[in-house]
Amino acid sequence: MHALTAAEARLRDRAREVAREAAAQAAATDRSEQYPWPMVRRMTEAGFMGLTVPKEWGGPGLSYFDAVLVIEEFARACAVCGRIAVEANMGAIGAIMAYGTPAQKRIAADCVLSGDKPAILITEPEAGSAATEMRTRAVRRGDGWEITGEKTWITGGGISRLHLVFARVIEDGEEKGIGGFIVVRDGEAMPAGMEARRIPSMGLRGMPEADVTMRGLVVPDSMVLRPPGGWARGFGRLMDAYNGQRVGAATVALGLAAGAYDHALERAQARRQFGRPIAEFQGLAWMLADMSIAIEASRALVWRAARSAGPNGFPDRLAAAQAKVMAADMAIRVTNDALQVWGAAGYSRDNPMERYVRDARMFAIAGGTAQVLRTQVAEQILGRKLPQTRDGFARIAAEEAA
Ligand code: FAD
Repeated sequence: MHALTAAEARLRDRAREVAREAAAQAAATDRSEQYPWPMVRRMTEAGFMGLTVPKEWGGPGLSYFDAVLVIEEFARACAVCGRIAVEANMGAIGAIMAYGTPAQKRIAADCVLSGDKPAILITEPEAGSAATEMRTRAVRRGDGWEITGEKTWITGGGISRLHLVFARVIEDGEEKGIGGFIVVRDGEAMPAGMEARRIPSMGLRGMPEADVTMRGLVVPDSMVLRPPGGWARGFGRLMDAYNGQRVGAATVALGLAAGAYDHALERAQARRQFGRPIAEFQGLAWMLADMSIAIEASRALVWRAARSAGPNGFPDRLAAAQAKVMAADMAIRVTNDALQVWGAAGYSRDNPMERYVRDARMFAIAGGTAQVLRTQVAEQILGRKLPQTRDGFARIAAEEAA
C-alpha cells in the first residue's frame, strides 16, 4: 500500500481530531435517531463537506482519495458521520460537478460547502437491484418537467436540500431514456410536490431513510442534468458517478470495522478471565489477527479504487465494485467478532459494539447489493455481458446470429 504524503497524513490527522467529537455524540445520535446537526456544523466549519468541489467553485478541489482518508476517520467514530462525509463529497455532487451546467455546479457547490448532504433518488418499491425498471416519469411540459413517482430508501429524505432525482424522460409523448433532475429545497419545507416519510431502520439510526413521493413536482429545464451521450446512455453515465459513492460506502464499512476492532483490541487486553487477559487465549488472539488482516486487505482495495479515478473524475467501475463487496462483507464479520470479544458487555446497549454490528449490516445491501456487485465484477473479468432478465441471453444470441 502507498505511504501517505505529508499533506494526506495532515488531512487524516485533522479528521481524526474532529472525529473524536463525533465519537462522543455517536451513542446519543443512535438513541435519539436524530440527524446530528451540531456535528454536521462542526464538520462544515472544519472544511470536511465539499472536499472534492473544485477550487473554481469555492471548494478545496481535493481528490476522492483525500475524501476517503477523511471518511474512514469519521466512520471509525460514528458511521452516520462517515456517511454524511460520503454524500457531501461523492455521489450526487460528483455527478453534478462532472455533467452539470455552470449554474447547476454553483448551486450544488454552495449546498455542500454550507453543510448539505445531498440525496440521490434512484430506488423504487418495485425497482431495487433492477434500477432501470424504475417507473418515475418526467414529462416535458413547456419550459419544464413534471415528475411523478415513488422512491424508497432515500438517504437524507426530509433533511437534504439538494436532490438528484432519476426518472424516465418522456418528451413529445415518447420515452427517451433515464435522466437526472435537480431539485433544491429552499428553507424548512420540502419542495412543492415532494413528500418524505421516514422508514425506521435497523442501524445508522441518526441518518433518515425515507419513502419519497413526487406528485406534480415541477423542475425547470435549467435543472435537468444532461450527461454527454444523450438520454439513451444517460443512466449509465449518471451511474458512473455512483462508483465514487460506492468507494465512499466501502470506506464507511472499512472505518466502522476498524472502529469495532480498536474497541475489541482494547477490551481483549483489559478483560481478565481465568487469571489472565482474555487476549492470551488463542481463540481470541487469532480472531483479532484475522480481523486485522481483513481490515488491511479491505483498506488496500478501497485505496486502490479511490486512486483509480479516471479522466471522467470517477473511480474505476471494477475496482469500486471489488472494494465495496470486500469491505461490506468484511465489516459484517469483523463487527460481529468484535462484539464476541466483548462477551455479554458487547450485547449491552450501554456499549458501542451492538451499534457497530447494526450499522455494518447496511453496506452489503445499499448502493448495489453484494450479489449484484459480484455479477458486475464477473462481467468485467469475463469481458462479457451477464444479463439478469430471463430473455437477456436469448437477445444476445439473436444479436450475435444477425
Ligand atoms: P432487491 O433488488 O429486491 O434484492 C433482494 C435480494 O435479491 C438481495 O439479496 C439481492 O442481492 C438479490 N438479488 C436481486 N437481484 C439479483 C440478481 N440479479 N442476482 C443475484 N441476486 C439478486 N437507494 C437510493 O436510490 N438512494 C439512496 O439514498 C439509498 N439509500 C439506501 C440506504 C439504505 C440504508 C438502504 C438499506 C438502501 C438504500 N437504497 C438507496 C436502496 C438500495 O440501493 C437498494 O436497497 C438496493 O439497490 C437493493 O434493492 P432492494 O433492496 O429492492 O433489493
